Amino acid sequence: MSNAKKGPFLLTNTLTRRKEEFVPLRPPHVGLYVCGPTVYSDVHLGNVRSFLTFDVLFRWLTFLGYKVRYVRNITDVGHLTGDVDEGEDKIAKRARLEQLEPMEIVQKYTNGFHDVMRLFNILPPSIEPTATGHLIEQIAMVERILAAGHAYVVNGSVYFDVPGYAARHAYGELSGRRTDELLANTRDTEGMGEKRSPLDFALWKKAEPSHLMKWPSPWGDGFPGWHLECSAMSTKYLGTTFDIHGGGMDLKFPHHECEIAQSVAADGVPPVRYWMHGNMLTVNGRKMAKSEGNGFTPQELLTGDHKLLDKGYSAMTVRFFMLQCHYAGTLDFSNAALQAGEKGLERLEKAMALLPKLKPGDTDEADIDALEQRCHAAMNDDLNTPVLIAELFEAVRIINSVNDGRLRLTAAALDRLRGLMHAMVRQVLGLREETTVTAGGDGALDALVQEFIRLRAEAKARKDFATGDAIRDRLAAIGIVLKDTKEGTTWERA
Ligand SMILES: [Zn+2]
Repeated sequence: MSNAKKGPFLLTNTLTRRKEEFVPLRPPHVGLYVCGPTVYSDVHLGNVRSFLTFDVLFRWLTFLGYKVRYVRNITDVGHLTGDVDEGEDKIAKRARLEQLEPMEIVQKYTNGFHDVMRLFNILPPSIEPTATGHLIEQIAMVERILAAGHAYVVNGSVYFDVPGYAARHAYGELSGRRTDELLANTRDTEGMGEKRSPLDFALWKKAEPSHLMKWPSPWGDGFPGWHLECSAMSTKYLGTTFDIHGGGMDLKFPHHECEIAQSVAADGVPPVRYWMHGNMLTVNGRKMAKSEGNGFTPQELLTGDHKLLDKGYSAMTVRFFMLQCHYAGTLDFSNAALQAGEKGLERLEKAMALLPKLKPGDTDEADIDALEQRCHAAMNDDLNTPVLIAELFEAVRIINSVNDGRLRLTAAALDRLRGLMHAMVRQVLGLREETTVTAGGDGALDALVQEFIRLRAEAKARKDFATGDAIRDRLAAIGIVLKDTKEGTTWERA
């Protein structure tokens, strides 16, 4: 395995609450399942952070040499308003409000989701299954759970019997919740409807005749419960037990707890070996929520068109900014932090642009092997992207020193440095080159400044130093700083 020399990969397993060495079930294959979006509205930034976390995991596993089958679903039915078993289907509700077919809503917001993922350079999964495309598998799973005696049928609906299951299996292992405490916290039995216990959850719900999204089943026309699709689709594509299951922290309970119970009840084995949960996003220290008025969309972040934003930020600035925080920590959005991220990415990209121009020396005055090992160690330590980024700034220091002639590296060491930077910045962190960053401005501005640089060079060539200096000073006055190097004149914003 090519990862042997890169050291063991440690991952925090939220099931055991410990950092564990990741050892796949069937190397070199890795099965990864991540809960995807419910496509009834635009993706919000918290979702982007969550999908970014698993994008980096996917990239790192691939970098380690694993063949990853990455499954990320699209929830297009069964997710009810209020995230419980009562209420309207989120997609059907939106369809009613927008006067569209439910599948038009699904298509519209799936397209929007893909656009946002592409914008932030989040790689597509290997398989992106939909709940409505897997009704047969879901019905079959309900039948297995019924046959095992862990569910019951009432009036065309099927419910999972949580107290019955908890008496024989560990329920609440992932979220740390206990059934007696959960019951004590249930104030009354209102909203319980047909359920035997308020802890029970729907596997299949009977649909009223007016219901838009319904399918035939052995129990009559209805639709699947929200938790069921992930269990059915992960089993289908990754097997009854697979390596890693990811999702946002808010999905731990009840969604992931229910997924475990369904799989154990249906197939007799725990479905997931490593559970991984990403943390939330806050804005100026407060939870990002529509009701708080601080829930800006990815598009608003790019344009700066929101009352909480001083200006717009590029998609890669946002990606870099998010990666400066470990996935398990809360990430706070503020203008100051975003602007610091923007500066940091600019420094990194300037160094990346210098890489091909560096001239080799006759000796090595920096240890690139050690730097590479520290980069790998950071990612192997539970995907510690902030530590990796700190190491990359050490690389930036080396690159700038070599460029300024203050440090020497041989041709071989320079090649390793170039390879390392490309692997870590582009492949692992997924930071795409943005013209706005590398050119120090947009293309038209760069062309214009290059024209002034040429005029100044011509002035100096005919020994008209006054004009040359005037061009430099006037550009500086409007915030464009020229720098004379051995390779010629470059420019940057002040
Ligand atoms: Zn799920």
